[in-house]
Amino acid sequence: VLRTNYLITIIYIMSEQSYDFDLVVIGGGSGGLACAKRSAQNGKKVAVIERARLGGTCVNVGCVPKKIMFLTSTMAEQMKHDATQYGFEQPNVRLNYPLLKKRRDAYIVKLNGIYERGLNNAGVGKIIGDATFAGAHTLSVTNDGNTQSVTADKILIAVGGRPNMTPIPGIEHCISSDGFFEMEELPTKAVVVGAGYIAVELAGVLNGLGVDTHLVVRKHKALRTFDEDISDFLDSEMVRQGITIHRNTGGLSKVVKQDDGKMSTYMVAEDKESISDADIVLYATGRLPNTETLNLDKVGVKLVEGKTYIKADDFQNTTAESIYALGDVCGKVELTPMAIAAGRRLSDRIFLDKADSRTSYELVPTVVFSHPTIGTIGLTESEAIDKYGKDNLKVYKSKFPNLYYGIFQMESEDKPKTLMKLVCAGKEELVVGLHICGMSADEMLQGFGVAMKMGATKADFDSSIAIHPTGSEELVTMG
Ligand code: FAD
Ligand code: NDP
Repeated sequence: VLRTNYLITIIYIMSEQSYDFDLVVIGGGSGGLACAKRSAQNGKKVAVIERARLGGTCVNVGCVPKKIMFLTSTMAEQMKHDATQYGFEQPNVRLNYPLLKKRRDAYIVKLNGIYERGLNNAGVGKIIGDATFAGAHTLSVTNDGNTQSVTADKILIAVGGRPNMTPIPGIEHCISSDGFFEMEELPTKAVVVGAGYIAVELAGVLNGLGVDTHLVVRKHKALRTFDEDISDFLDSEMVRQGITIHRNTGGLSKVVKQDDGKMSTYMVAEDKESISDADIVLYATGRLPNTETLNLDKVGVKLVEGKTYIKADDFQNTTAESIYALGDVCGKVELTPMAIAAGRRLSDRIFLDKADSRTSYELVPTVVFSHPTIGTIGLTESEAIDKYGKDNLKVYKSKFPNLYYGIFQMESEDKPKTLMKLVCAGKEELVVGLHICGMSADEMLQGFGVAMKMGATKADFDSSIAIHPTGSEELVTMG
């Protein structure tokens, strides 16, 4: 028995030593970096392969530059519309857009450096290049025409996604969100095509900065998967703020570049020129996972049926042993904190033997940085009706102007409002959905997310003392 145990140990050590790394992560974005660093802390030999800049979508062309633009635009709105209401006399200052871009870009370079140092400090190796599978434990990495082979016991795929540009005539004249962040000057007139997070966020930014903004949606409104009251409310706010919404268009059929370099757009529903003289046409019609070049067939990693997302279970296992996937490439919940949580918990499961360590995809708080912001957790009213039945639900709603607008010299009905909604289920009134659209919704949501994760009921909400005067107090005082 001793001899057999000794042999097994030798074989185990040899197999462990036969790979360059315990874990190699493809993709140095939100999820990949989180898993790599946690795995190094868990005592493993780890490397990250990245073909572009560290930080991935969120840092370079997503959350971070977007939030800076959201803040710039909010500042502009406050100076343009609100400052005079508070007695300021010369609020209309001019935006030096190239200076803003320079500072935004510099901040991102700084973050790239922080990520680089973070990896070094954690002892994670960085390999620059484009990775593809050469075998179940082998990756081929190409950089500047040179190819090297890297082996690992376990491999994590965290390659994220990219903008999906609908292939219509003239699409080459359009930009995506990536192109939005490359713009060197502010356009005068912009067409934004799409109906999701990115379309409403960037249309809001452009409009707030004084750009003549046209939002083109295929159906009747944007954010159709959000709670009906919330998307209707945002819709009316966008119109009130001056965004022209083109509805039921079926999308664009073509984009034509005019002789003067500006753009005309044609819509599927009308098939005639509908918007002309646009400086930019920005496509924000969803994203595609970066799976095509990974050679996934070779190693038995299957895709979700009919899609190009990787099929992964709730533990981030793919259909191939020792190969895992998480984040946007799986397409479940495409948010940075989700990818980070999944990465850390996966590492704890596979390297600390915590068999139950996984991320829950339920009750994920999310914010749309629209103008005004939307904060939402849990079920929409119609999802709750499907799940619990109408008779088992109680919905609380409140619509009010924030105190911020109290001294504004305008009719009460014209003052911007906030809409809040609680969807409660069963006799105990478990809070299963919480939705806000209005000022500061983004900063209100996190704590309510904790409460809902803990199973808070309406009575729990009511038993907490309100903070006055704030907008969020409304959520604990709804009658
Ligand atoms: P990514 O962060 O995309 O990282 C993937 C990395 O893999 C990239 O760096 C890529 O270069 C690399 N890569 C790909 N293929 C290979 C390969 N073959 N070899 C080597 N490297 C490869 N989420 C929020 O939570 N809040 C927000 O406010 C928010 N705003 C957003 C705004 C915009 C405009 C966009 C586009 C997204 C936004 N998101 C936001 C979503 C968020 O950015 C993503 O959910 C998150 O970045 C996903 O992380 P990931 O690790 O899955 O992939
Ligand atoms: P989304 O998936 O959110 O929305 C895209 C929408 O565009 C579709 O739902 C569809 O709506 C519409 N659409 C699709 N094709 C066309 C077309 N050809 N013409 C016109 N409209 C079309 O995609 P996004 O690109 O906005 O964002 C991707 C993901 O990134 C988000 O889902 C989110 O997870 C994440 N993200 C998160 C942010 C945050 O946390 N604040 C910010 C930005 C992104 P319809 O069916 O109604 O036409």
